[in-house]
Amino acid sequence: SSLYRIDGWGAPYFTANSSGNISVRPHGAETLPHQDIDLLKIVKKVTDPKSSGGLGLQLPLIVRFPDVLKNRLECLQSAFDFAIQSQGYDSHYQGVFPVKCNQDRFVVEDIVRFGSSFRFGLEAGSKPEILLAMSCLCKGSPDAFLVCNGFKDAEYISLALLGRKLALNTIIVLEQEEELDLVIDLSKKMNVRPVIGLRAKLRTKHSGHFGPTSGEKGKFGLTTTQIVRVITKLRQSGMLDCLQLLHFHIGSQIPSTSLLSDGVSEAAQLYCELMRLGAHMKVIDIGGGLGIDYDGSKSGESDLSVAYTLEEYAEAVVGTIRFVCDRRSVNHPVICSESGRAIVSHHSVLIFEAVSTVKPVVHQANPDDIQFLLEGEEARANYEDLYAAVMRGDRESCLLYVDQLKQRCAEGFKEGVLSIEQLVSVDGLCEWVLKAIGASDPVQTYNINLSVFTSIPDLWGIDQLFPIVPIHKLDQRPGARGVLSDLTCDSDGKIDKFIGGETSLPLHELDNSGGNGGRYFLGMFLGGAYEEALGGVHNLFGGPSVVRVSQCDGPHSFAVTRAVPGQSSADVLRAMQHEPELMFQTLKHRAEEVMHGKGSGDEGGEEEDDGGGDEFNNVAACLDRSFHNMPY
Ligand code: PLP
Repeated sequence: SSLYRIDGWGAPYFTANSSGNISVRPHGAETLPHQDIDLLKIVKKVTDPKSSGGLGLQLPLIVRFPDVLKNRLECLQSAFDFAIQSQGYDSHYQGVFPVKCNQDRFVVEDIVRFGSSFRFGLEAGSKPEILLAMSCLCKGSPDAFLVCNGFKDAEYISLALLGRKLALNTIIVLEQEEELDLVIDLSKKMNVRPVIGLRAKLRTKHSGHFGPTSGEKGKFGLTTTQIVRVITKLRQSGMLDCLQLLHFHIGSQIPSTSLLSDGVSEAAQLYCELMRLGAHMKVIDIGGGLGIDYDGSKSGESDLSVAYTLEEYAEAVVGTIRFVCDRRSVNHPVICSESGRAIVSHHSVLIFEAVSTVKPVVHQANPDDIQFLLEGEEARANYEDLYAAVMRGDRESCLLYVDQLKQRCAEGFKEGVLSIEQLVSVDGLCEWVLKAIGASDPVQTYNINLSVFTSIPDLWGIDQLFPIVPIHKLDQRPGARGVLSDLTCDSDGKIDKFIGGETSLPLHELDNSGGNGGRYFLGMFLGGAYEEALGGVHNLFGGPSVVRVSQCDGPHSFAVTRAVPGQSSADVLRAMQHEPELMFQTLKHRAEEVMHGKGSGDEGGEEEDDGGGDEFNNVAACLDRSFHNMPY
C-alpha cells in the first residue's frame, strides 16, 4: 500500500487490510477494529444480482459513508472547541457547509442533522440553493446560520428576508454594493429587520490555482472604499445595527497557516474598524479554504497538498482573531467558517472498473518484408548503422537510427513505395530493438468504464488530481504500469497524471481467470466535494449509481441503507429533450418495416412465422435493454 501512499492521504479513514483490500474506517481514528468496512465486499454486494440481498447495480458507483461525514464535522467542531478553550477565547465557533460543494439531498440533510447539536448551518450561493438550505434548516438548530452569498437579485433577497420571517437565521452577505439598495427597500416593504453581512475583498492573496478569488482584483466582495460607503448608507437608513457579520474568502486549498493568519489578521482589523464605525458586529466568517492533502505529502508545495492539520488550522484562526481583538479591546466575535472540501471530500468513494488493456505489441519482423532495407543505398546504410549500434550496445545511437528508419519508412509509405506489410515489419523491428536496449514504453493503457467529464470534471477542467488506487490485490505486487483511458470519444478523457508526480500508475495485470470473476476494481478517493456538482453529460454518459453505507454491528460490519441506480441511457436522452419512449417506438416500427412480412411477433398475427418474429423480438428486446441500462 506504500506504493499508493494510502497512509498519507487516506488516514484515518482508508487503509489496506490483511486481505489486500481497502478498508474504510467509518469513525476515523475512533474506529474499532471490528467496525472496519471492506470496500470490495460492498462493491460485490451491491453489484451482484445473485448474492442474497444483491442489488445488481452497474458501475461506476459512488459509495457514500455518512459516518465519515459525521466524523469530519465533529473533528472540525472539536478542533475549534479545543483551540477556543485552550486559548481562553471568549466566544464560540459555529460553522456552515457551502452546499455548492455537494448538493445531494442526503449529504445536506446528514450535515444539518449531525451538526444540529453544535448549531451547524448552511451557506447558499443561488436561489435554488437558498430554497434547499431553508427547507433543510427547518430541521436544524434554530440558531444555525444560513449565510446567503453570491449574486443577488430582488427575488433572492426576498427569499432570504422571508427566511427571517420563518425564524431561520438568514444573513444576507453583500457581495456587490448595488445589493444594499435592494436589501434596504425590500426589508422595509416586507417589514423584516435583516441581518446583514458584507464580504470584503482582502488585500492578502494566495498564489495557488484558487488564489485569484482573493486580492483586490478578486471577482467577489467589496473594496474598502465600497465598505465605507455601505456603512454611510446603512447609518443614513437607520440600519447600521443590522450589519453584524464580516465575511471573506481567500480561496480554496489555502496552502499554509502563515497565509491563513495573514488573511485572518487583515479581516480581524477590518472587523474592529467596523465596530469603531458603529456596526453591531457579532460574527467573523472566514470563508472556505481549509485544505485537503490529496497527495499525502503534507508539504503545502502545490495545490494538491496543505502543510497543516485541522487542529493547526483552528489554532491559527482563533489565535489571530484573539490577538487583534485583544489589542483593540474589541469583544471576541463568533467564528464562522464555510469549509466545504474539508467536510465532504472523504465521505464518498467513486468505484469503477478496468475492463481491458491496450499493451504495446511487438510484431515479429517478416524477413521478406524487410528485405527492401538491404536494397536501397540509404536504407541499407541506415539499417547497417542500426545493426552495428545494437551489436555494440550503443543505446543513444540505437534511438537515433530507429527514429531515422521510422521516418524514412513513413515517407516511403506516403509516397506509395512501401506496402502496409513492410511498414508493420519495420515497426516490429524497431520495437524489438527498443525492447532489447530497455527503451520500449512499458506503460499499458487500461480502459476504464467511467467518464472523466461526468465523474472527475476537475481533472479535465483544472488538472486537479485525486488518489486512484485498486481497491483489492494490494497484497500482490503490481506487474504493470498503466494510464487510464475512459469511455468517451474525447482525447481529454484520460488520466495520465497521478499524485506524487507520476505519469503512470502501478497496476495489476488483468487476469480473467483470477478471483472476483477476473474483475479489477479501482477507487478514486477524496472526490466528495465539487465533483458531483460540476459533472456534465459529455457523450451522454450520465450520473453513476449511488449507495449509502453505514457501519453497523452484526455479522457484517455494514448495512446498505440506500441504493439508487445510475442514469440510464433513456434518462440522459430525456435530459436532452429527447423522448426515449417515442424513439423506441420509431426504431421498433423500423424493425417491423425492414423485417416486412416476417411478422412482428408483437401482434401475434396468424401468418406463418419464418423466424422473422423471433428476430424482431430479439431486436426489440435489445433496444429495450439499451434504453434502460446505464450507458457505461
Ligand atoms: N465559501 C465561498 C464563498 C467559496 O467561494 C468557497 C469555494 O471556493 C467556499 C466557501 C468553500 O471552500 P472550500 O471548499 O475550500 O472549503
